[in-house]
Amino acid sequence: MACTTGVCQSGCYKEDDDEAMEFERRSESATTTTANGSASLPVKEDSDHRNLCFKCKVDEAITGDEAHLCLGCFRSSLFGKFKFSVTSHDMINPFDNILVAFSGGPSSRVVLQFVHEMQQKAQRNFDASRDRSLPVFGVGVAFIDETVISSIPSHEYEKAIQDIRLIVSSLAPPEKKLHIVPIENIYSLDSKGETSRLKELLHAIDDDTGKEDLVHHLHMMSLQKIALDNGYNKLVLGSCASRIACHVISATVKGQGYSLPADIQYVDARWEIPVVLPLRDCLIQELNMICSHDSLKIVKQLDGSGSGINVLVSSFVTLLQKENPSRERTIVRTAEKLTPFHFNRLPETDDPNNHVSSRRRHKKFNPKSNESIPSELFCPICNSPLNKVDSERLKSNLRHCETSADILGISCCSSCQFQILPKKSSSKEHFYSLLPQPMIDRAKYHISRDQDLLRSGNK
Ligand SMILES: [Zn+2]
Ligand SMILES: [Zn+2]
Repeated sequence: MACTTGVCQSGCYKEDDDEAMEFERRSESATTTTANGSASLPVKEDSDHRNLCFKCKVDEAITGDEAHLCLGCFRSSLFGKFKFSVTSHDMINPFDNILVAFSGGPSSRVVLQFVHEMQQKAQRNFDASRDRSLPVFGVGVAFIDETVISSIPSHEYEKAIQDIRLIVSSLAPPEKKLHIVPIENIYSLDSKGETSRLKELLHAIDDDTGKEDLVHHLHMMSLQKIALDNGYNKLVLGSCASRIACHVISATVKGQGYSLPADIQYVDARWEIPVVLPLRDCLIQELNMICSHDSLKIVKQLDGSGSGINVLVSSFVTLLQKENPSRERTIVRTAEKLTPFHFNRLPETDDPNNHVSSRRRHKKFNPKSNESIPSELFCPICNSPLNKVDSERLKSNLRHCETSADILGISCCSSCQFQILPKKSSSKEHFYSLLPQPMIDRAKYHISRDQDLLRSGNK
């Protein structure tokens, strides 16, 4: 059934018999489900011999692509990919308190499930160990409630939130705290009328793509805030290879080529709370398959229907993938050739709890970075590193700025200037007044940095 001999070619690996037994149990129960006829996946059958799994050569293959794996081997290979990303990039260690961003879709459902299984195993090891020196990492779940800006009817949204509560509460212990936070909470709680302020902000953007992208940036900002306010030290996203492939194409179209490598790595530590992507090597088709076979409940997609570049690119990539099932991986692998930034690795800590073995792994699999770390400037709206042209323009114009809105105007990356900022200079002041504080703080940072440089005699 499940692969039990070290690391196999498909990235599946077993740490101990305990885990292997768990997979055997799962594959048995899931095979029964398949026998009941609920599976919609292609099963090639021959009249003479069954289409056997390439790996275990015992069970019938369920995956239709070149992998030809049975359910048990397919699941363990997918979990293996997740586990390999986690361990090789030191994404989760026993002292962590991690926050899983949950949208209810298949990717975040699988990441929640896999994190949960890892935590359960850590708990079993803890209970069995005599000295109990290694604690069990903590897990919280965050859902950003976008009811106020969503085109989806509020009763449907409410139903989705109920489902999300049910999904999280029905996970076995250790308990996971669920944070359901309205997106308008990015405005500080004591400021009145945050809903209308948010609506007005989005209304001030003419471009559909710009609007969607700003919501995405606000979403990330909300997740960061939840993590900071509740003592989490890492943020886990379910972004999979298919999603990243779409981002590669759309970022290229939007002229974000310079900052693109920052967004597509396993680790992104430019944020106050570092972000990790353990499903970066999995395809959405694979994640859908796991959800259907493990009967993992997913929630109706709450993004609504967009009309901008993002939606166009997503349907284009889906079409490419239909024609050739390796297209999404090819896109991601091509973009991987771009050099990552120094913040695409977790900061080295002097923490004695950071074990030697994990540090060694960490060194081995993390992108090489220059010894002298460049001090990047970041766009206050999207938090992308600014390219050379944008940074130079900012440095040379900063001292001529009269208003805060002027500073915001010249601090933004070209893409945000084009797609998000209002064109008319008269609207800029109003737009600035509607932005949430963290974005304003980022713009202000440029001034304080400039003054520091002036004082130290650099330019
Ligand atoms: Zn198999
Ligand atoms: Zn930007």
